[in-house]
Amino acid sequence: ALIVRHRMRCSSRWARAMAIVRELEEKCGSPEAKLKQVADAMTVEMHAGLASEGGSKLKMLISHVDNLPTGDEEGVYYALDLGGTNFRVLRVELGGKTGGIVSQEFAEASIPPELMVGTSEALFDYIAAELAKFITEEEEKYHPPPGRQRELGFTFSFPVMQNSINSGTLMRWTKGFSIDDMVGNDVVAELSKAMHRQGVDVHVSALVNDTIGTLAGGRFSNKDVAIAVIMGTGTNAAYVERAQAIPKWHGPLPNSGEMVINMEWGNFKSSHLPLTEYDHALDAESLNAGEQVFEKLISGMYLGEILRRVLLRMAEEAAFFGDEVPPKLKTPFVLRTPDMSAMHHDTSADLRVVSNKLKDIFEVSNTTLKTRRAVVELCNIIATRGARLAAAGIFGVLKKMGKDTSTGAEKTVIAMDGGLYEHYTEYRKCLENTLIELLGGDSSSSIAFEHSNDGSGIGAALLAASHSQYRNESS
Ligand code: BGC
Ligand code: MG
Repeated sequence: ALIVRHRMRCSSRWARAMAIVRELEEKCGSPEAKLKQVADAMTVEMHAGLASEGGSKLKMLISHVDNLPTGDEEGVYYALDLGGTNFRVLRVELGGKTGGIVSQEFAEASIPPELMVGTSEALFDYIAAELAKFITEEEEKYHPPPGRQRELGFTFSFPVMQNSINSGTLMRWTKGFSIDDMVGNDVVAELSKAMHRQGVDVHVSALVNDTIGTLAGGRFSNKDVAIAVIMGTGTNAAYVERAQAIPKWHGPLPNSGEMVINMEWGNFKSSHLPLTEYDHALDAESLNAGEQVFEKLISGMYLGEILRRVLLRMAEEAAFFGDEVPPKLKTPFVLRTPDMSAMHHDTSADLRVVSNKLKDIFEVSNTTLKTRRAVVELCNIIATRGARLAAAGIFGVLKKMGKDTSTGAEKTVIAMDGGLYEHYTEYRKCLENTLIELLGGDSSSSIAFEHSNDGSGIGAALLAASHSQYRNESS
């Protein structure tokens, strides 16, 4: 009788756990019709954000880039790339018309977590010191021509209200950064002060978002690139807009007739988004509650954390990992998206990767195969929702650009970058397939994705070149 009762208890626990999985699956559902509503809402918000400053949750920021690289750029330029988990310094040698990228070198460092929530001085001193180190190591290899300063493009991947191509104020932090004294300050002024403190003599010629850098870098290698999307720690998109379709732009009409827009789509929000109780709780407890709602559904910083929250509920309400709730399961952000991805891609018959991850991260051992299978299913539900919503976002941008239907002639290439896109294969496949599904029929042949590896840094160097302080002098 005891054994029977034990079995009954187990099976009802399992049923309870599965009910939580099924409920999640239902709430995360993203059928095509829903995705089209999301895309339409994105298009509507794009119009509103372009109409007036603050007209929408979508900031639709004017980048002051009205000409993308042509391939004629020439000279040696530096780039700094700050925005997610890593920080990079680059030196790019551009060969002009026929030379392309002659050489590039870079150094990479991860940002010490305490600097993400400290002071702006500490963060910028760190960056400037890394730049100083890089330049010193490179000194023998490169010297600017006499009388000229080194120049750089600064990729700063946060919402910035640009005043010109090389100045702009930080509107707010995202992605786990939170340095209050920096908000409202000019990003280039802060960097320049820090470089001065570190004894670095470099002129900042361009300040760009990573989406803008990726668009510029993408266009340099492929003239059909018209959209850039970052799927990494955070998420965002940029695209080429007709200047006349930007009512809030009161500046002179650019010769190109075009202006690149940094959408800041991470802050998109719509009643059509399939939000769950886990998303609401994650948002409420985040550093930026109520903001970056789209980002919290689809980007790399959050997918693993959503999964942790579901697992915690299953542990608490259905003893999913046994009688005790593993204490580690209660720590926010212990489950990182790369770990979730590794579990999702586990192809071993006994799901050994899942088993090891659960042991390493949550200290739960002896999980049953059934339990591990359920974990993989959860990974799939959460990643699928994110990827499909990201595709809906892209579809919305294509609609706004009038490129959502096949005209046969024109091709639109989307430059993609970010660790999530690069490393989470299931996510990437789902995103790409969903966009094809949304485009329907043969229009899919007019759209292509291109992984723009490190495009944002190279793009910043290219924009520094085309906005060089010496551009009107002969070189
Ligand atoms: C930022 C964007 C950035 C994106 C991808 C978001 O959190 O607000 O400016 O482009 O992350 O790095
Ligand atoms: Mg990046």
